[in-house]
Amino acid sequence: MTALSLDGSYGEGGGQILRTALALALCLKRPVRLFNLRARRAQPGLRPQHLACVLAAAEIGGAKVEGATLGSQELYFEPSTVRPGRYAFAIGTAGSTTLLLQTLLLPLLLAQAPSRLILTGGTHNPKAPSFDFLAQAFLPLLARMGAKVELNLLRPGFYPRGGGILEAKIEPTEKLSPLDLPERGKVLEIQACALVAGLPRPIGERELKELAKALTLPESALRVEALTGCGVGNAVTVTVRCEHLSEVFTGFGERGVRAETVAERLAAEVKAYLAAKVPVGPYLADQLLLPLALAGGGRYLTLPPTPHTTTNLWVIQQFLPLACKLRQENAQRCWIELTSNAPS
Ligand code: ATP
Repeated sequence: MTALSLDGSYGEGGGQILRTALALALCLKRPVRLFNLRARRAQPGLRPQHLACVLAAAEIGGAKVEGATLGSQELYFEPSTVRPGRYAFAIGTAGSTTLLLQTLLLPLLLAQAPSRLILTGGTHNPKAPSFDFLAQAFLPLLARMGAKVELNLLRPGFYPRGGGILEAKIEPTEKLSPLDLPERGKVLEIQACALVAGLPRPIGERELKELAKALTLPESALRVEALTGCGVGNAVTVTVRCEHLSEVFTGFGERGVRAETVAERLAAEVKAYLAAKVPVGPYLADQLLLPLALAGGGRYLTLPPTPHTTTNLWVIQQFLPLACKLRQENAQRCWIELTSNAPS
């Protein structure tokens, strides 16, 4: 089969183009050639995080690979059949385990036998899905599509040291069913949890105090988890539990940024989601596209699409005959609908 050629500088021009391309190459057994990889990032080409995804994808897919070196802006990836099984991948430093899972999950899900992954690295990284987001928001929706995946946080890991461990147990699924998410229903509960590892507990308490003020949360909705033995780091999550799904928003403590500021930024994200009265938040919106595409379709109502969403859609459409309609309902709400154009 001829290799699909993909320009990694398209749209967002970041790592997600690579991960989605690897996942689809594996699922469809289609060779792919990527150029201009991560061209829009300050340090273009493959960083350790991305290289780890390439090497792990090559291992589960028995792939022939060219260009898998640090800094490389070109990659050729030719998979054979996906081999389910037990794998352990260590990303080193705090490379994101959840982004690695984003690469491997769908190919293993659509394989012939169960798999168990042990991924070592960061589990709560800025600019990546947090473990809690995957466990509470993403996977329940995937389960609705027929996927049986169990995710366990064996040890949290934070930027920059990492050392976290994520376990994924994946049962094979012959076919995913389409997902229809037109509404979220009533908001049943909003909870906030601050993880504080190797740092003073009051950091978490200050974040929660600010979140409680901004989102009018009762004391009973707030929880600090002080962690020991897993490095230094701070993440704070807000879970919005609705009648038809849960959404999770995550903020990350940073050196030199006040705990109150971390909480204010997070509260602003949650408020934008609540005000729009949509089911799907901005991160779920780009991450649901891959399973929907492999299921042959689906639709959801979300916030106006981010560059991550439009870019991911573009990558997917290079691989699969899918029609996509984006219909903006108003300034805050947009429908995304995927339908298969494949001959039946
Ligand atoms: P690069 O280093 O090239 O920016 P990257 O490999 O970090 O790239 P991106 O292309 O920026 O990857 O993709 C980041 C992914 O992480 C997207 O799928 C996005 O939805 C997800 N993501 C980022 N922040 C969050 C968050 N707070 N909650 C859930 N998911 C998130």
